[in-house]
Formats: sequence, structure tokens, C-alpha cells
Amino acid sequence: MPYSNLIRKETLRSIADVQTIPFWLDDPARPGPEPELTKNVSTDLLIIGAGFTGLWTALLAKEQDLSREIVILEAGEVASGASGRNGGFMDASLTHGLQNGLARWPKEFPVLLALGIANLDEIEATIKRLGIECDYLRTGELSVASEPHQVEELKAEMERSSQYNIRSEFYNREKIRDIVKSSLFIAGLIYPDLTALVNPAQLAWGLRKACLDLGVRLYEHSAVTKLEEEDKHVTASTKHGSVRASQLVLATNAFPPLLKRLSNYIAPVYDYALVTEPLSSAQRASIGWHGRAGMSDASRLFHYTRTTADGRILWGGYDAVYYWNNGFGPHLEKDGASFARLAEHFFQAFPQLEGIRFTHAWGGAIDTCSRFSPFWGMAHHGKTAYAMGYTGLGVGASRFGASVVLDILDGCKTERTKLEMVRTKPLPFPPEPFRSIGINLSRWSMAQADRNQGRENLWLRMMDWLGLGFDS
Ligand SMILES: Cc1cc2nc3c(=O)[nH]c(=O)nc-3n(C[C@H](O)[C@H](O)[C@H](O)COP(=O)(O)OP(=O)(O)OC[C@H]3O[C@@H](n4cnc5c(N)ncnc54)[C@H](O)[C@@H]3O)c2cc1C
Repeated sequence: MPYSNLIRKETLRSIADVQTIPFWLDDPARPGPEPELTKNVSTDLLIIGAGFTGLWTALLAKEQDLSREIVILEAGEVASGASGRNGGFMDASLTHGLQNGLARWPKEFPVLLALGIANLDEIEATIKRLGIECDYLRTGELSVASEPHQVEELKAEMERSSQYNIRSEFYNREKIRDIVKSSLFIAGLIYPDLTALVNPAQLAWGLRKACLDLGVRLYEHSAVTKLEEEDKHVTASTKHGSVRASQLVLATNAFPPLLKRLSNYIAPVYDYALVTEPLSSAQRASIGWHGRAGMSDASRLFHYTRTTADGRILWGGYDAVYYWNNGFGPHLEKDGASFARLAEHFFQAFPQLEGIRFTHAWGGAIDTCSRFSPFWGMAHHGKTAYAMGYTGLGVGASRFGASVVLDILDGCKTERTKLEMVRTKPLPFPPEPFRSIGINLSRWSMAQADRNQGRENLWLRMMDWLGLGFDS
């Protein structure tokens, strides 16, 4: 584990003036909110939550049948949840990566891989067709090794991925320096076709516009507080109104769920990120990062980093913090200690950038589930469906999540609904205090493994064996 957690005074100075709002939302292109719901309305399909899952569900449903009436209720504003707070790595993987997919669904992995690539291709086609300007670039994601055992792990992964005809490129110590000059990175592996980078908020706003243009009714600042099932309907109540719907989709991700049972499956885990001021040309030259590929560490507790359209660097990850009893709320989106640790690690990776200031720092909740990949389910006698559990990899997978939610709500038998991944659920997390103990012990064990040349302790091996795990 090459990163030290000793925070220097200079590091604290670099984050002294940060604005604690997500960089992506601090954009003059951010649309003003649609009105709050202040009356009682009816609709065919109600979607709760206007992040990527909710927006894709609305768009796909309208594209299937323009006459279907759709209402979206959003507690905050479009993309104010994880969809406007993420790193913008849009991955083709539906399974949180190759290793997790192969471990859990070895037989259907080739189908999951193909469906994931098709999903990413379709997102790309939609962005082009709708003319959404969101800095979309299919650059690939470079996994960087900073220790010899990670180099071996990357080589093994490349070997495994080649069995599935996944195009990859390995960079040794000399070659990685042509891509980016870091004092820590000693090798890298990239899958050029499997990841795109995007400005996530701009994508969400583009989807929002497309939905509104197709006649979707969106109410923002309209948190649903209660769901009630009647004979053929479900009614969702907000403070000042209600929506009576024949069908309902819950797209509420890591937020406290409206169906209580879902809190057994989802643990909100907070992830934090920083963005620098735009780099000068001398600073950019000093790190030599001229391409736009995003990167992440090959370690278990990892950082992710990428550049923005206006020449800043986003640096996030590493700390994945679970708060007691599914702790959740805006007060957890700011964590000075995490921000300082992230900044310190940044300067260890790029000491040439000493003196640069960070302008934005924020956090957001990840809907962690024990299998690290989305799951689906139904409630209210088939009138309600949900998709969640992306575990930090939902920017791309949420579109697939939305397609499946519509399949199961409409009773369609498709290639997707036949999947074991779709038909099964993750193992539930245990109740407190075992939930906190288990998650914190897993996180501690991952940090230990990173310090121990990747060797996993008994706890992590047992969790793997049980198919239970923790990731961000
Ligand atoms: C810091 C961070 C970094 C990440 N980085 C990446 C990345 O680089 N790549 C990647 O693939 N994934 C990443 N993710 C995960 C990714 O952002 C999510 O998987 C994805 O955005 C999920 O979209 P969603 O629509 O399901 O959830 P959200 O965007 O969270 O949307 C849920 C919406 O539901 C609304 N809501 C909740 N409850 C109610 C209610 N009762 N009434 C009305 N509305 C309600 C919320 O306000 C919210 O807008 C990251 C997440 C975080 C937090």
C-alpha cells in the first residue's frame, strides 16, 4: 500500500477553499426545477426517483409506447442523488467487473458481457440520436498498479479477459509513463472498448429534457412519504399531493427505501471526491496526461481519477464509509477527514502538482449490496418493481436496470428476464450491530490486504466463500 495517511499542512491548504457541492452540479447549464406536486393526479406509470434509473425507465417506456402516461416524483432535483455525484465512469459491466461476474454467474457470464456491451453501445447511440452534450468519450479505463503484486494481478486479469475476447492493452513501467507521469504507477491495463467517460449531470439533464419532450410529467422537490396499495392501483403521497398509478417503479437507489424490506439488501456507503482547479499547461505537461482515459488503482481500496472537459482533475474513492444503521443524509456528504486524506493521496500520486488548489469536494451514497451488482424485485402484487444495488457501478448499468424493470413490470419474457442474475437476489445484510461490524471488518481487512501484497485474511476468504462481500 504505497499511500501514506499522514496529512501535511500544505495538503490542508489545498482544500481550504473548496465548495462542498458536486462539481458536476455547479454548472450554469443546470436546469431550474420543475414544479412541486401540489394536487392529486393519476397516471399509468409512476416512477419515484429521477436519477439515471428513473430517467432511463421513463425514456424507454415512452419510446416503447408514446401513449403511456408517465409521472416522475423526485425528492430533490434531477441528478441530485448519486447520478450527479459520481466519477462519470460509464462501464459496460453489469456485474461490477469481470472477476465478480465470473465468480457469481460463470455460466451466463458471456451473455452478461454481451448484454453489457450492447447496453453501452445503446447509451452511446441514444446520446448521439438525442444530441445530448455531455462530454461523452469512449476512452476506456486504465487500471494502474503501484506495487509488484498488482502487476501480476493485472496480467492474470488480462489473461482471463482474453478468454472472452475482450480487447485489452498492458502498459509496463516505461509505457505507463507515456500515458501519465506518476511517482506511484508502475504498470497499467486498459480495456479500451468497455468504458466511456461522461459528464454525468449533463447526461441526466439531457435525459430529463428528452423525457419532458415526450410528455413525461416531472415533479421535483416532491418526496414520496407513503405508498398505499388499493385494488388495481398504488398511491404515492407527498406533502402536498398524491399520484394514483397502475404501475410503479422505485428508482431510489441508496436512499431510505419506501419498501422497508429493501433496507435488508442495501447498505448506503459514502464515497467522496475532489476536483482541482483547471491545470495550467505547465502543470498538465508535468503529468503528461494528455489523453482523456480515466484511471483507477488496482488495489482493493481504490482511487479513481479522470480529467474534465475544462482541464481539471477529479480524484475520488478510497474511503468507503458506512454509518451505523444505514446512516443517510446531507450531513454525511461532507467529511473533512476524507477530503484531507484524498488530497494527501493525490499529491503522493502527483507530487509535481504541489500547490494546486481543489475547488470542489463532496460525497454521495452508494447502494452497496452483497453481490455488488444490481437486483430487481416486485411488490404490491406485481404493480410495483424496483432496480437497485449497483454498488458504485451504475452510470451505465442503470439503463440495463431500467430495461429489466420494464420487462418484469409488463410481464415480458425476454433474454434479460431469463438471466439467473435477474431472477435471484443478493444475500441480505444482517441487522445491526452485525451489519456495522461485518462491513467495517471487511473494509479493514481490505486495507490490510493492500498492505500485505494482496494477501486476504481469513475474514475476506470466508466472506468470498459465503458469497457475501463489501465493495464501493
Ligand atoms: C461519489 C460517487 C461516485 C460514483 N462513481 C461512479 C462511477 O464513476 N461510475 C459508475 O458507474 N457509478 C458510480 N457511482 C454510482 C452511480 O452514481 C449510481 O449507481 C447511479 O447514479 C445510480 O442511479 P440511480 O438513478 O439508481 O440513483 P440516484 O441517482 O441516487 O437517484 C435516486 C433518486 O431517487 C430520489 N428519491 C429517493 N427517495 C425518494 C422519495 N422517497 N421520493 C422521491 N424521490 C426519492 C433521490 O432524490 C434521487 O434523486 C458513484 C456513486 C457515488 C455516490
